[in-house]
Amino acid sequence: MQIKELDQTYVASTYARFPLTIVKGKGSVAVDENGEEYIDMGSGIAVNLFGYSDDTWLKAVTEQLGTVQHTSNLYYTGPCAKLAEQLCMKTGMKKVFYSNSGAEANECAIKAARKYAAETKGSDYYTIITLKNSFHGRTLTTLSATGQEHFHELFQPLTPGFVHADADDCEGLEKLVKENKTAGIMIECVQGEGGVRALSQEFVSCISRLQKEYDLVVIDDEVQAGNGRTGKLYAYMNYDLIPDVVTTAKGIGGGLPIGVTMLGEKVKDIFHPGDNGSTFGGNPAVCAGALSNIGRLDDELMSEVVKKSNYLFDKLESAENVKQVSGMGLMIGIEPVKGKAADIVKKCLENHVMVLSAGGNKVRLLPALNIPMELLEKAAEVIADAFRQIGEES
Ligand SMILES: *Cc1c(COP(=O)(O)O)cnc(C)c1O
Repeated sequence: MQIKELDQTYVASTYARFPLTIVKGKGSVAVDENGEEYIDMGSGIAVNLFGYSDDTWLKAVTEQLGTVQHTSNLYYTGPCAKLAEQLCMKTGMKKVFYSNSGAEANECAIKAARKYAAETKGSDYYTIITLKNSFHGRTLTTLSATGQEHFHELFQPLTPGFVHADADDCEGLEKLVKENKTAGIMIECVQGEGGVRALSQEFVSCISRLQKEYDLVVIDDEVQAGNGRTGKLYAYMNYDLIPDVVTTAKGIGGGLPIGVTMLGEKVKDIFHPGDNGSTFGGNPAVCAGALSNIGRLDDELMSEVVKKSNYLFDKLESAENVKQVSGMGLMIGIEPVKGKAADIVKKCLENHVMVLSAGGNKVRLLPALNIPMELLEKAAEVIADAFRQIGEES
């Protein structure tokens, strides 16, 4: 059987895959089984931070694979300790817990918030307020945290203790804090899946005020927006906010699975041996790759990200059939005036540019941070054309 048939026969049908089989890639170019090339503007959903098979990342990972590929968390290893040090030095967070995915990183953050609230206010203070249109993962608890009803319907009963506030409504948020026995607030500074929307400065300042007034644990989910994507190392650095917990995954691993939960001053000592764990968490090869990735997110690269972002915003805001361009850095949502985002995504793929969609009928772009300007310009041309064509057909 061909790969597509095999997959459709034997892999659970949880994904609506596009008719494209990727056999190899280099940088921002993917190659299919016929040798056709595609510009990847999604980078595996913000995972391939420096594109496919990036040389520097590959060297860091393979060197580590050749020495110690894994050991249990009963022993110390270098890459995991050094990565934690770098993350804490660069963010001001104090401790790191490792897992294997964004959902798990968020699970750990929720555990930290609940344990802190239980110890300081009482075990009935377990409610965590999240935002409507948020996305926090697919495990039952992170689904419960996710503020999109359509994800909840089939999987009742969900984990109790989550309520959802409107983004950018400070009064509504404070009302929920008062009405519930609240442990914390969980946000994405730039919502990804839910529609590529950056929270307003005022709203984030409001969260910062509530954090202090009510001693709340503020969890910032940077699984998608983190690791240089917004033009800062972490997205909260664009705002007046110091989160108590920062979670990340996707891009930090550059293509290998990792979840990171960074614990700030308030909750740095919340966990004791036995409170959490993960067999693969802190895997030395994954951490060696991540350590190399984090080291490259310097000021020079960040100004490149901002430059490329400005180019895309300018180019796409002035394109035909574009209603609005949203997001931050190289995390961009484009809403058409007419037509479906899904049709624009399909049209782009036909023209060998891979893009994603997001909630609110948006086309979503998450290119590798080091995508060459020349490829970015080519892709932007194809995307603008697709918006125009689908507009005319609608
Ligand atoms: C992708 C994503 C998650 C879930 O990450 P997984 O690695 O798929 O578990 C959580 N939060 C946000 C903001 C994400 O974009």
